[in-house]
Amino acid sequence: MGKRWTDVWKMIFEIECVDGLRVGGSGGGLEIGGVDANLTALKDPITGEPYLPGSSIKGKLRSILEREHGRGVRGEPCKCGESTCPVCPVFGAHKNTGAGASRLIVRDAHFTEEYRENWKKNPVYEEKTENTINRDRGTANNPRTQQRVPAGAVFAGEMVLKVLEGDDDRTMLKNLKHALAVLQEFDSLGAGGSRGSGRIRIRDYKEEKNALKDVTLGGATPKK
Ligand SMILES: [Zn+2]
Repeated sequence: MGKRWTDVWKMIFEIECVDGLRVGGSGGGLEIGGVDANLTALKDPITGEPYLPGSSIKGKLRSILEREHGRGVRGEPCKCGESTCPVCPVFGAHKNTGAGASRLIVRDAHFTEEYRENWKKNPVYEEKTENTINRDRGTANNPRTQQRVPAGAVFAGEMVLKVLEGDDDRTMLKNLKHALAVLQEFDSLGAGGSRGSGRIRIRDYKEEKNALKDVTLGGATPKK
C-alpha cells in the first residue's frame, strides 16, 4: 500500500527577467531576414503572450540540485529512487516508475496581472542576433535572430509540493528554495544562459502549508 498523502505546500513567487529571456516556440522553417521561426518566443495559444513552461523551471531546479549533490550519471537525471536522495523523491526518479511519482508540481508561469497591463501597452520582444563564427575563415556565417522576452517582464510562479506520511518535507522545501536561490544568483532560465540570456530574480516568495483534509473549494485555512 502507498504512503498517505497528508499535507501540501504551496509556494508562490514572482520571476522577474533581469536579462532578455529566451524560451523557444515550436518548429518551422527559416524565415529569411526575419526572426528564425525556430527562434520565436513560446506563446500561450489563447492569449498570445509569452510564458515560462513549468517543465523548464522544474528541469532547471532539478539539474541544479543534481549538480550540487553529484546525482545523475553521464548527463542523465538521477533515477536512484532512494528516499534519502535530494532529487528523486521531490522530482520523481527518472524512468524508474517503481520509485514513486514526483511530489513537485511546477505550474506554467504567466505574466503577473501588473506586468500584463504594461505588456498590453507595449507588447514588444527583444530581438537578439547571434552569429556563429567560421573558425577557418574568421567570418560570421548564419546570423540568427531570436525573440526574447524583454528584461523587466514579470511572471507569476507557483509550485506545489505534496507531502506524504513520513516525509522530511522541511528538508525538501529547503532544497527547493536553495535551488531557486542558486538559479537567481548563478544560473539562468531558458536558452543561451552562457551567452547572456535568462538571468532572473525571484521576488515576493511566499509559502504555506495545509493539511490535505482542510482543503476546500474556497481554499484551505493556513496552519499556524
Ligand atoms: Zn536519486
